Amino acid sequence: MEKITENVYAATDIRGCNPGYVMTRDGAVIIDTPQLPTKAVAMREEVLKKGPIRYLINTEHHIDHIFGNYFFTGLCPVVAHEHILKDFGVVSSGTPYSYSLEVVKKDDPEGISLMPPEKDFHLNPPTILFSHGLKLWVGDQVFELFHTPGHTRGQIAVYVPKEKVVFVGDTIFCECQTWFHAADPDAWLWSLDFLKTLDVDHIVPGHGPICNKDYIMKQSAFIREWVTAVAVGMAKGWGLQECTQRISFLDRFPVDIGQEAAGPMIQEKAVERIYSFLHGKIERYR
Ligand SMILES: [Zn+2]
Repeated sequence: MEKITENVYAATDIRGCNPGYVMTRDGAVIIDTPQLPTKAVAMREEVLKKGPIRYLINTEHHIDHIFGNYFFTGLCPVVAHEHILKDFGVVSSGTPYSYSLEVVKKDDPEGISLMPPEKDFHLNPPTILFSHGLKLWVGDQVFELFHTPGHTRGQIAVYVPKEKVVFVGDTIFCECQTWFHAADPDAWLWSLDFLKTLDVDHIVPGHGPICNKDYIMKQSAFIREWVTAVAVGMAKGWGLQECTQRISFLDRFPVDIGQEAAGPMIQEKAVERIYSFLHGKIERYR
């Protein structure tokens, strides 16, 4: 995996989220797991060569961040925000296993042999949960976990002050399409403002290349553009169908690796979610 600082590693070039890990004097802390089995097993082996795995932290419940947890079963406790549990492993169709099997067949054929039979599969969900914030001391590193709702309700950021790095999960989609399908845009903007207060040189986003604090403004501007586009459409009297037909930001960014075909669906889901948000019909996260 790519070395970001002396003790921080992440992978930004694989299908699914950007998983990463931080080395300490007493072992490793993992932040999110690869969706593809060969990548998850390779990451596990890479880390175990360097030391024991002390914690696995999930930044959100979406399947591309948590499906690989299975491959770390029994190695360490899993940590996340309490709101992650309600939707943990929920997918748009089928079971987490059947959904992921289709992904694996397409993008990781060698990984099929690493998948257990469905009856033996389990999600390895978090057992350590927090509400507002949590600090973990591991070896010579401190991990500060902050609740940063917006993209999802249970979204968190993992700040590693000694390395001047923060893992923000899908609070930032760097130079790729933003998924709004489970979002509260207002909470999201608040969380992006909060991230500006951290002393960091590197941000590990949920998707796309490593960035720095300059990208926070780009992400919040894109969220504001999206909300404004739907609000202006509604003010003109457009209904949901007309908003869906007329509003698209597909030309702005590519879709993250391996999901190119999802581009139109991402636009449609974004319009639907923001339309509901502007009608006061979504659950607010702050
Ligand atoms: Zn997500």
